[in-house]
Amino acid sequence: MRALVTGGAGFLGSHLCERLLKDGDEVICLDNYFSGRRANVLHLRDYDNFELMRHDIVEPILLEVDRIYHLACPASPVHYQYNPVKTIKTSVMGTINMLGLAKRVRARILLTSTSEVYGDPEVHPQTEDYWGHVNPIGERSCYDEGKRVAECLMMNYHRQNKVDVRIVRIFNTYGPRMAINDGRVVSNFCVAALKGEPLEIYGDGQQTRSFAYVDDIIDAIVRMMRVEGLTGPVNIGNPDEFTVEELARLTVEITGSSSQIVRRPARADDPVRRKPDITLARKHLGWEPKVALRDGLGRSVGYFRKELGLTPV
Ligand code: NAD
Ligand code: UDP
Repeated sequence: MRALVTGGAGFLGSHLCERLLKDGDEVICLDNYFSGRRANVLHLRDYDNFELMRHDIVEPILLEVDRIYHLACPASPVHYQYNPVKTIKTSVMGTINMLGLAKRVRARILLTSTSEVYGDPEVHPQTEDYWGHVNPIGERSCYDEGKRVAECLMMNYHRQNKVDVRIVRIFNTYGPRMAINDGRVVSNFCVAALKGEPLEIYGDGQQTRSFAYVDDIIDAIVRMMRVEGLTGPVNIGNPDEFTVEELARLTVEITGSSSQIVRRPARADDPVRRKPDITLARKHLGWEPKVALRDGLGRSVGYFRKELGLTPV
């Protein structure tokens, strides 16, 4: 297969490029390096069938490919709120460009949507048939509503133009190759604990998230692309739910840090609870996560230690 991975130099994209190359695909990694970096994929340049391209998906592009894994979009609130207008352009114009390409070259296209389409959910755990509770004018809406439009575009190109589409809704994912300054909670907590700095909890720390290890999520994405006759959306995530405070305590324990845990003001529209119902993924993809948080955090801490130039323990 000739595969295009948009956002391929990012956290998830770099793991996906690696997996596809190992499986024997030809891979074009396309990125504008806004929140990704060449260092994430430099180790892949030894593969003959790997190509790295700088391109912004807000501009159209024509490539001969069979599969499009469409990941390009900043995913950390810090990054997607830095230039919110650009974020929404990436989700809307970028997805139109990728769908136009898929239509023209008859490629199958997969969108990495997000649990954020459920907003601050009133249904718990979240099932795919829940329409969500999103503030359309809030600070998170450039991302949430952008992804909701991207899903809408996917389904309309499918119905109107018979494009072969796949949608996965990914829940909070963590692991090696998250940037030190990524700004999401797992990287923030690991980096702070390793540096002996305070772990900052936004709000009361009782909000929950369900954290999935990157390898599990990549496996689900690959399965979703390969399965026949399923557009989705399908939730992929780890249903083990933790409060942010529990995550902070676990990170301090695993790193053996003497860092304090401190409180900071809550972020606007921060979802209170989040946990995926993965019945559909279990049934149609034969998939469920294998890596527990304690395990995955341990592996991630090893990576952050190296990134920070600390000696391994
Ligand atoms: P990331 O920020 O590390 O990766 C995104 C990549 O897209 C970066 O390499 C960035 O430079 C690139 N990019 C951004 N705008 C672009 C543009 N206009 N043109 C070209 N490239 C562009 O984030 P990630 O965690 O790897 O997320 C990847 C995808 O998965 C995103 O679509 C995100 O919405 C989705 N997702 C991730 C999570 C998660 O927890 N990691 C959860 C839900 C959904
Ligand atoms: N959070 C926190 N401290 C941090 C970063 C995040 O308490 O340093 C909280 C944040 O308010 C949210 C949760 O951790 O409740 C997850 O935040 P993240 O940015 O990782 O992802 P989100 O699920 O909000 O997109």
